[in-house]
Amino acid sequence: MSRPRVLFAGLFHETHTFLEGTTPLADFQVLCGCDLLRCTGDSSPLGGALASAKSFGWEIVPTVDFRASPSATVEDEVIESFWQELAARIPSQVDAVYLVLHGAMVSQSSLDVEGEILSRLRQRVGDVPIFGVFDLHANFTQRMADLANCLVAYRENPHTDGRAMAVLAAELLQRALTTQQVPRMFWHHPPIMWPPTGTATALPPMHVLEMLARQLEVESPAFWVVNVVAGFSFADTPDTGVSFAIATTDEESDPHGALQRLAALAHATRAAGNVTDAPVAEVLAKLDPLPSGLTVLVEPSDNIGGGAPGDGTSLLRALVERAIPNAAIAINDPAAVQRLSALAPGARINLPIGGKGSRIDAGPLDLEVELLHTGDGCFELEDKQSHLASMAGDCFDMGLCAVVRHAGRLTILLTSRKTPPFDLGQWRSQGIDPAQFSVIVVKAAVAHGRAYDPIATRMLWVDTPGPCTSNLRSLPYRHVRRPIFPLD
Ligand SMILES: [Zn+2]
Repeated sequence: MSRPRVLFAGLFHETHTFLEGTTPLADFQVLCGCDLLRCTGDSSPLGGALASAKSFGWEIVPTVDFRASPSATVEDEVIESFWQELAARIPSQVDAVYLVLHGAMVSQSSLDVEGEILSRLRQRVGDVPIFGVFDLHANFTQRMADLANCLVAYRENPHTDGRAMAVLAAELLQRALTTQQVPRMFWHHPPIMWPPTGTATALPPMHVLEMLARQLEVESPAFWVVNVVAGFSFADTPDTGVSFAIATTDEESDPHGALQRLAALAHATRAAGNVTDAPVAEVLAKLDPLPSGLTVLVEPSDNIGGGAPGDGTSLLRALVERAIPNAAIAINDPAAVQRLSALAPGARINLPIGGKGSRIDAGPLDLEVELLHTGDGCFELEDKQSHLASMAGDCFDMGLCAVVRHAGRLTILLTSRKTPPFDLGQWRSQGIDPAQFSVIVVKAAVAHGRAYDPIATRMLWVDTPGPCTSNLRSLPYRHVRRPIFPLD
C-alpha cells in the first residue's frame, strides 16, 4: 500500500442518565472536515492521533468531531447530525478508520451510541481495520467488540495518558497497515460496578487490574492490547460496569482465559472499588481546630467531571454555618455572574448562590457578598497532560467569571460554564493563589488529584446529596443487568 487513506472521526460524551433534562446539539463543540486538522499536535487525544498520522504519512480523511462535557442523556438529533456529517464525508474507498471515542454515550433512543455508530460505519466502509482510543470510564459492549478491530483504553485515572493512548492506537494501526495483520476484539463483563471514586488507578482494584493487564500483554505477544475498562456507573445501560477487552490476531492465544483471569481478580477486589464517603458533620469536625496547611474537601456527589451541575450548596452552607476561616469554593452560576457583571468591584449585595442545577440540592443559598472582580474566564491549561486536556485540549473557557467574598473569610469563584477542577489555572487566571487557603472545596471524585496533590496537606472526601454520589444503591437503576455488585 503506497499511502494509506485513513478516515478520522471523534465522538466524545460521558452521559449521566440520572441527570434531569437532555443534552442538545448546542452543547457540543463541533468540528467538520478540514477544521479537525487544526487539532493536530495539541494536547487532546485527537491531536495526538493526527500528529501520529502525519508522521506515518497517512492520507488523512478528516470527517467530524463532536465533543461535550459530561451531562444528561443526549438528544437523538445530536447522533443523527453526527452521522449525517460523517456519512457525507466517507469516500468511496478507505484503507482504515481511526476513532476518538469516550464510550459511555447514551441518547434518547440508544443505550449504546458507540455500538450504533460503529454498526453504521462498518456497513459503509466494509472490512477495513477500525482502530481508535477511548476513555476507561466507557461502558463497553459486545457490539463495540464485534465491530471494531482494536480500541485502546486510557490506563490512568486521572487521565494523564489520553493523548499517549491515542498515539499508541495509531501506532497499532500503522502496524496493521504495514503487516496486513488485523486483530479482532474479545470482551468480558463481570457483574460488577464501581462508583467513579473507586476507579483511581493508583489504588486497588484498578491498580492491580492494570498490573495484570500489562503482565498479560507481556505473556501473550499475540495480544495487541489488553484493556481494563472501569465503566461509568451513572449511565444506566445493560452493559454498565467493569469490563475487559483484548485485541488479538490469534484466537489460539486464549483471550477468553485472560479475560477470565481479569474478571476473577476484579471479583476478588470488588469491595475496594465500592468507595463510600463520610458525612459532612464527621468531616467538618476535623477542621475544629483548623489544622495547618491546605485541606481539600472533595465533594464527589457534585463531580463536574462526572456530569454534575457544580453548583451544589451542601458544603457551601457548611463553610458558612461553621464560619470556617480562609476558605474557598468554585460554584457554577451564570445567573449570579450576570447580576454581578453590572457592578463595580467593592459593591456589596445579597446574592442567591448555586443550588439551581439539581433537584437533590437544598436550593440557592442567599449570602451577603463583596464583589472583588469580574473577568474573562478563558485560561490556558497549566498542565497539558491533565484530565482536562484530554477533554478540552490546550485552553478552557469558564465563561464570564466573578470573584466574591463573604464575611471576609470565604472566597467564591463564580463561573458561567461548568469547569472541572483539574487545573489550578482556573484560580490563578483569576488572580487567586489556591495554595494560600486553609480550606478549599473541589467538586470532583479522583481527577482533581494531579492538580491539588502538590498543594494539599490533606484531602477529605465528603458525602453530600447530589447526582454523582458514591452510594450507587441510592440511584434508581432500570437498565443495568442484574444481579450486579454492589446493588445485589
Ligand atoms: Zn474518564
